[in-house]
Amino acid sequence: MRRLGNYINGQAVPSNSGRYGSVFNPATGHESCQVALSNQAETREAIASAEAAFSQWSQVTPLNRARVMFKFKALVEQHADEIATLISQEHGKVFSDARGELTRGLEVVEFACGIPHLQKGEHSLNVGRGVDSFSLMQPLGVCAGISPFNFPAMVPMWMFPVAIACGNTFVMKPSEKDPSVPLRLAELLTEAGLPDGVFNIVNGDKEAVDVLLTDERVQAVSFVGSTPIAEYIYATASAHGKRVQALGGAKNHMLVMPDADPDQVVASLIGAAYGSAGERCMAISVAVCVGDEVADRLVGQLADEIDQLRVGPGLGLTEEAHMGPVISEQHCAKIKDYITLGQQEGASLIRDGRDFVYPGHEHGYFVGASLFDHVTPGMRIYQEEIFGPVLCVVRAESYQQALTMINEHEYGNGTAIFTRDGDTARQFCENVQVGMVGVNLPIPVPMAFHSFGGWKRSLFGPLHMHGPDGVRFYTRMKTVTARWPTGLRAGAEFSMPTMK
Ligand code: NAD
Repeated sequence: MRRLGNYINGQAVPSNSGRYGSVFNPATGHESCQVALSNQAETREAIASAEAAFSQWSQVTPLNRARVMFKFKALVEQHADEIATLISQEHGKVFSDARGELTRGLEVVEFACGIPHLQKGEHSLNVGRGVDSFSLMQPLGVCAGISPFNFPAMVPMWMFPVAIACGNTFVMKPSEKDPSVPLRLAELLTEAGLPDGVFNIVNGDKEAVDVLLTDERVQAVSFVGSTPIAEYIYATASAHGKRVQALGGAKNHMLVMPDADPDQVVASLIGAAYGSAGERCMAISVAVCVGDEVADRLVGQLADEIDQLRVGPGLGLTEEAHMGPVISEQHCAKIKDYITLGQQEGASLIRDGRDFVYPGHEHGYFVGASLFDHVTPGMRIYQEEIFGPVLCVVRAESYQQALTMINEHEYGNGTAIFTRDGDTARQFCENVQVGMVGVNLPIPVPMAFHSFGGWKRSLFGPLHMHGPDGVRFYTRMKTVTARWPTGLRAGAEFSMPTMK
């Protein structure tokens, strides 16, 4: 059995921890390889490699750091099909979706290529007589990233391109469920000319993560994953003096107004709820319909569309499936348990994906598209993140009731409103308590030059990922106030200095 180790100081290194996790192909249920679950000493070795590389890398000029990013972008593009195939083999998503994920990751690399401009800081001439003031945006040192299974390329690429372009060095701890893609990206970074030790990968679980959260050489931690772990990461790393951004789970609502274009709503919902088998933090998992008429029509149309959905392996079909399997046997069972729970809670199960089997792939982790109507806020299937192809339809009597429902939900990652009324859309954008908002657009993932992040229990920490917040997160501001020429001497001053 092939065993994946770590990537430290510019090369692949086997692990000596003696602990391994299994990596499965979700379409077949077969174990494809094993991944090292690194011990504390190996994690410290990765941190040491990053720390040793920092003094030189932080002195490389911004333009030369950008040039490495340009080369890396070209290499990833050259190997895009190979990387997308790896994503699909270990995650299960269909090939075109894997290519899309890689494109969204590459957009952050393109953003990072602009670092000479992004890291310029500010300058004020003559803030006092002969006194100038300017700010420096300096790198922090060793930064760490911990990523989830659902975007094995894109989420690490939300983090390391900006961190490295800013002059930091990095230790990445990818998801142990699909670790091959980050290792491939590490090889391509080396091929692009990144000096050894600037980017390192330590594979593993809590044992490795806990070292990253507590080792004093690590200055900042970026995390994406489920809310309970995000909260733990935020609390632990903050208590150890680190800068932290920890993105958590979601339950994204689409508010459907009576004046919305019904066909546009259905087309948007079907992709946003079931694309990637619902395993996206920006997937729509709740449709809130204002009025019974809207809900009745939507549920009928959705049921028809679900009957046309192609569910199957992510690779190798003549006509590509719309969605693939979910990540693991345990997650598959958990999603099916939620469907059973929804029935027990009294929701109407309109389409039931529990018995779906793809012929010839009987051990694959497939769940068919499932749809509940008459879901209410008191139900657990409404409150909790299912992270699978299960859409809940909730009925509201008014716009205000729908808005209150969204605002009272514990998660606040993404949301969307579908309406033809500009007043309502504008009010919604202003008043909804959610970090990323779509208007007649179901998955409002901000482009790389804006920042990505939710509100409430979907994000712990003040700064979002990539875009302007990404640069702020990975740099430390220093402000210099200087008097030249020295001939302009000031006398002793005992009151608070002001620039007269
Ligand atoms: P997860 O929280 O189980 O794992 C995320 C990372 O944390 C992995 O690298 C894992 O090894 C590590 N980890 C797990 N348990 C740990 C522990 N006890 N201590 C320390 N580290 C631990 O998440 P997942 O199942 O891989 O990913 C799915 C979740 O990620 C969903 O909740 C989804 O909403 C969320 N997600 C959020 C966003 C966002 O932008 N907000 C984006 C993608 C995914």
